[in-house]
Amino acid sequence: MSEFLIVGGGVIGLLVARELAAAGAKVMLVEQGSCCRESSWAGGGIVSPLYPWRYSPAVTALASHAQQAYPRLAAHLLDETGIDPELEHSGLLMLNAKDEEEALLWAATNCKALYPVEPAFIYDREAALAAGFRKGLWMPDIANIRNPRLGRALQSSLQSNPLVQIREQTQVLALQTNIDRGRGARRVTHVSVVREGVVERLCAEHVIITAGAWSGGLLATLNVTLPVVPVKGQMLLFRPPRRLLDTIVLTDGRYLIPRRDNHLLVGSTLEHTAFDKSTTEEALHGLRRSAEALLPELAECRVERQWAGLRPGAPDGVPFIGRVPGIDNVYVNAGQYRNGLVLAPASAQLLVDIVLRREPCVDPNPYDPVSRNVVG
Ligand SMILES: Cc1cc2nc3c(=O)[nH]c(=O)nc-3n(C[C@H](O)[C@H](O)[C@H](O)COP(=O)(O)OP(=O)(O)OC[C@H]3O[C@@H](n4cnc5c(N)ncnc54)[C@H](O)[C@@H]3O)c2cc1C
Repeated sequence: MSEFLIVGGGVIGLLVARELAAAGAKVMLVEQGSCCRESSWAGGGIVSPLYPWRYSPAVTALASHAQQAYPRLAAHLLDETGIDPELEHSGLLMLNAKDEEEALLWAATNCKALYPVEPAFIYDREAALAAGFRKGLWMPDIANIRNPRLGRALQSSLQSNPLVQIREQTQVLALQTNIDRGRGARRVTHVSVVREGVVERLCAEHVIITAGAWSGGLLATLNVTLPVVPVKGQMLLFRPPRRLLDTIVLTDGRYLIPRRDNHLLVGSTLEHTAFDKSTTEEALHGLRRSAEALLPELAECRVERQWAGLRPGAPDGVPFIGRVPGIDNVYVNAGQYRNGLVLAPASAQLLVDIVLRREPCVDPNPYDPVSRNVVG
């Protein structure tokens, strides 16, 4: 029997497994498909919230912690696995942001590098941008990470760790509980999983739900109401014949992300269409229009690929991290919404701090399902 059973092998589940194993715990991770093929694969990999001052201090706290952790994590993963997650310190240029005063106040309060910039700076840095941008905000420290590679590196590293077992194509159907009479507490006794039509029971001392947009549905099998809902995001990929951009550029909620090999990602839509992951012509045209309005040369390039993913949406984008109310041995780490890649290392560390009763890396209260009235 494992000490910990983790449900969901996105970036959050894989990092929780890594953190637990680093503390010497025995872990089994169960993934219904293949690891890191859902939101963690579909995302853009900007290692910052977009317009970070618009988020609550709880998001800033996790993001700041994680931004410091990423360079070491990326270097260790490359060392351990030979897979480079390509953490690129490309900087983030926000054009025509309307709330400059709030941005500057947030930057001063949180000691972040964020500067107002003029056209001379903008076009000196990015000559291929469309003409006419008059002002911007520049965050030089922001990076982007190639999230599919991050996923592969994490999985590869865990697969060579004797403390960790990963079971893919294995779906958790339900969590069964009973009352521990001695302690009067409700506990999960086992978890029912299905693989290739065969149902099996798995046991663990503790269960950790890191099932992204599916976390609410899983916890509903325990009569726990977790307000995490799927929010679809569509993206496009271009492969221009030459390097057009070095910086992440953002305007009116739409962004371009340059990868090391000159690929350019364009994101993204925000759609409430339940668990539908289909792509649409409307999003293709809308995203393409936004991309060409930033970089006119893209009009000459064809779209290489379009895809969609399901973000785990939580109220105000603040994830739920901690023990599930009313059940002794179940924890959750879900609801990172648009920021799951940037928040992942800190979210994982905080959860493991809570589970192992270590000094928490950030104040755990804003994320605590109990104090946020998750109903169990
Ligand atoms: C278009 C788009 C752009 C984005 N851009 C960014 C960005 O630039 N920066 C950023 O920080 N974030 C970004 N995000 C958000 C980020 O991708 C997510 O917040 C993050 O990936 C969530 O990670 P996760 O591990 O919680 O979820 P997921 O990656 O979705 O993983 C959850 C896993 O749980 C598994 N699972 C579910 N139910 C079960 C079950 N019953 N049994 C077993 N396994 C189960 C799923 O198969 C899945 O693999 C973006 C997202 C999208 C869609």
